Amino acid sequence: MLQKLRLQLVLINVISLTVVLLVIFISMYFSIKSQLLKQEESLLNRGVALSDSENTQVPGYIKNNDDKSYTILDSNEELLASLFYVKVDVMGAITAVSDNIIQNKDNLMLLLQKVDDLDKSTGDVDLFDLKLSFLVEDRLDGKIYAFIDRADRESTMSRYMYTAVFLLVGAVACVFLISMFLAGKAIKPIRESMEKQKKFVADASHELRTPIAVIRSNAEMIMDSPEMTIEENMKWLKYIYDESKRMGKMTEDLLLLSHADAKNEVPKEDIDLSRLAADTYDSFKLLLEENKLTDGKAEITEGVHVYANEFSMKQLITILLDNAMKYTKEGGISVRLEKDDNFAYMYIKDTGVGIPADMKEKIFERFFRIDKSRAKTAATGGLGLGLSIAKVIADEHGGTISVESELEKGSEFCVKLPLMKG
Ligand code: ADP
Repeated sequence: MLQKLRLQLVLINVISLTVVLLVIFISMYFSIKSQLLKQEESLLNRGVALSDSENTQVPGYIKNNDDKSYTILDSNEELLASLFYVKVDVMGAITAVSDNIIQNKDNLMLLLQKVDDLDKSTGDVDLFDLKLSFLVEDRLDGKIYAFIDRADRESTMSRYMYTAVFLLVGAVACVFLISMFLAGKAIKPIRESMEKQKKFVADASHELRTPIAVIRSNAEMIMDSPEMTIEENMKWLKYIYDESKRMGKMTEDLLLLSHADAKNEVPKEDIDLSRLAADTYDSFKLLLEENKLTDGKAEITEGVHVYANEFSMKQLITILLDNAMKYTKEGGISVRLEKDDNFAYMYIKDTGVGIPADMKEKIFERFFRIDKSRAKTAATGGLGLGLSIAKVIADEHGGTISVESELEKGSEFCVKLPLMKG
């Protein structure tokens, strides 16, 4: 599909360029031709005027002393040297001719006949291998025919045609290659995002398969022994309940991520991040005590305001605190909030298992988990979606999220968010 899209892009480029070049070349062709025709016409008019002055020698050449040969004055005059005229009376008998005309009288008559047959005042006429352009002027006492060689015009036009075709083919080939390259580049992010999407769907269905299998097998277990009481089946029911809860959480997370992927803006307002961070940390205090993680503290700078969605911000802090708790066996969890002129910096630090250096980026990918066994209990092993949601939230607010960590010493996540302006 992407290959087809790439070819379509290339084809559109090549076709549009060919059309534009064709229009340019064709208009240039006609403009050059009309200029050459105009030049010829003005020379032919000169021939007619010369016939009036009874001058038998047409400008552009000098008759040599031998009275037979001619010397052409300069290359520009070459065309002029081919100019000649013939005057005929009303009966069609030749009354005057310029010097440099066709010597054979029969040929000359044949030429005049051909022009008359064309029944035009100006145009092109051929006599054997002579290619001429003519102008006929009717007079009371007969006609004046002026002729000039048109081979020059025709060779200029054919040279132009060859050059134009060569340029057109060259340009189309270049554009084809460049378009292939650029289309490939343009498609790369689409391909990457499609592959990501595919992986995401595959991971999501894979993750859903396990709870579904657990629910099904536990339900079968209950159905197989209808004589057992609910109390006796409590263990299986509890598995079903836990797994359905896990599935519920997962579908909620997936919905949130797809909402972010669709670039649906979350409503934002002025949020007191200092209050939010302090409140969220306080709500964890009981859990921290239960888990004997009491070594941490909150150091919160007052009055740090950000332009944000309160629900998303709370979710972001909760994900980081929740993870810190999941991956810390002893010590404590601390929260620090600071700001500079433009940004708020929120640090969530734990004394847990730490994160290997080569996985510091990967942990923000969807469904990525370092190792389930790292969590304190199997139940706390998550889905690998928490940090990707945290990253999406930071991105949505024009911020970033990063981590510093040392194995077996602990990790410190930093969320950087732009401060509320004004
Ligand atoms: P999960 O739901 O599995 O915790 P996350 O996306 O939140 O998924 O985290 C991805 C992985 O990053 C986790 O599997 C875990 O191994 C690692 N991780 C996250 N937070 C911490 C932390 N505070 N300390 C150590 N490892 C962490």
